[in-house]
Amino acid sequence: MSRKRIVVLGGGTGGTMSANRLRRRFDADEAEIHVVDRDDRHVYQPGLLFVPFGLAQVEEIVRPRSRQLRTGVVFHENEVESVWVERDEVLLDDGTVLPYDVLIVATGVRLQPEETEGLTGPGWNERAFTFYSPEGAAQLRRALDGFEGGLLVVNLVDMPIKCPVAPLEFAFLADWYFRECGIRNKVELVYSTPLDGAFTTPIASEHLSGLLSERDIELETEFNAGEVDGVGGKLVAYDGHELDFDLLVTVPLHGGAPYVERSPGLGDALGFVPTDRRTLQTPAKPNVFALGDATDLPTSKAGSVTHFEAEVLTENIARYLAGDELDAGYDGHANCFIETGFHKALLIDFNYETEPLPGHFPTVFGLPLLRESRLNHLGKLLFQSVYWHALLPGRQIPGLGPAMPSRGKKQSPIHA
Ligand SMILES: Cc1cc2nc3c(=O)[nH]c(=O)nc-3n(C[C@H](O)[C@H](O)[C@H](O)COP(=O)(O)OP(=O)(O)OC[C@H]3O[C@@H](n4cnc5c(N)ncnc54)[C@H](O)[C@@H]3O)c2cc1C
Repeated sequence: MSRKRIVVLGGGTGGTMSANRLRRRFDADEAEIHVVDRDDRHVYQPGLLFVPFGLAQVEEIVRPRSRQLRTGVVFHENEVESVWVERDEVLLDDGTVLPYDVLIVATGVRLQPEETEGLTGPGWNERAFTFYSPEGAAQLRRALDGFEGGLLVVNLVDMPIKCPVAPLEFAFLADWYFRECGIRNKVELVYSTPLDGAFTTPIASEHLSGLLSERDIELETEFNAGEVDGVGGKLVAYDGHELDFDLLVTVPLHGGAPYVERSPGLGDALGFVPTDRRTLQTPAKPNVFALGDATDLPTSKAGSVTHFEAEVLTENIARYLAGDELDAGYDGHANCFIETGFHKALLIDFNYETEPLPGHFPTVFGLPLLRESRLNHLGKLLFQSVYWHALLPGRQIPGLGPAMPSRGKKQSPIHA
């Protein structure tokens, strides 16, 4: 095989894992690997949840991006301007043109708080916050530190979002936090969502609604937030329904990276990249693959998903370059710890066909599913170290792979 050039757009979870896995797989004379990202700050995003409660500092969850890449991977600290799919070229913001034999799109999502009327106007980062960015999480820490009581509304503006359980985790941790501070009796907590339940799938939704009610967190469903008055403390839905707040914690609208819209044939109307749900090849062109939050796949936008996809994607790039048939091996597998406060967490595990079910993961003797446990909480805390030292470097983790294990689950799969 002549030396090929693989260009990876995005040096976050999916881009870093893919580049490192490919670097392990191909010798330097077989492939040169380039990663492009706009900055050199790799954020361990699950850690953002803990920052507002003083359980983590932003500096503890950020590391230099370039240092997470294996020797022999070329890092470009640049903004991607556009992709010319027809010409197999990427244009960077300094005018550099990067030709490629294979392209991997891993540029994640863009937060769009400005798309909700009034949200980023007066009151933004004073009374209305998001913990979905390091800056937002740090601002919210200061606000929670000074909060003496009142109405706290957690609002999820619309799907899809990264880590759909993160706003629920925030609500559970807020309940725990205010109890620890001794002011829970002065705080009213509301969880408002455009969904018709606490979560996207029925069995998990029922479990999580029960938990919200046990914690005295009011659940406001089918609330489609359209406007925010950050000074008056009002969240207004498109149907005119209003929610008052003293403090708003929002998960803003998500869209794809803007360059995707500027790249003919690459993305859909929301800037996400249409992607084959099993092989991760895109219909844009056979040499373009995508993974992680940037895709339009009907599974969660989560780091676990990105990790499972990276295994299939790197195998398929090797097959593509060798002229072999692609592996249709990704089944939509996702799993997430859901922190519930009081040093406990739930775990959910699912794929395209099977919703989160009770039981154990990965086998009958494993971690409890859909049940609060201390073991799951320890798993969640331990995960940061696994992320930096095993997942990002592209190491295999025994028992944690792209195919969802069904042993240990309590009911037979349902079909979506
Ligand atoms: C608060 C929070 C909690 C979470 N908790 C969990 C959890 O518990 N479990 C879990 O599995 N997942 C969790 N996630 C989700 C997880 O972090 C993401 O799904 C995962 O990081 C997606 O990886 P990615 O590579 O697709 O995107 P990212 O890791 O976001 O990387 C995308 C990269 O592309 C770069 N980029 C974008 N546009 C351009 C451009 N034009 N030019 C150059 N570079 C560009 C960005 O700078 C970024 O580095 C959480 C996320 C958040 C926000």
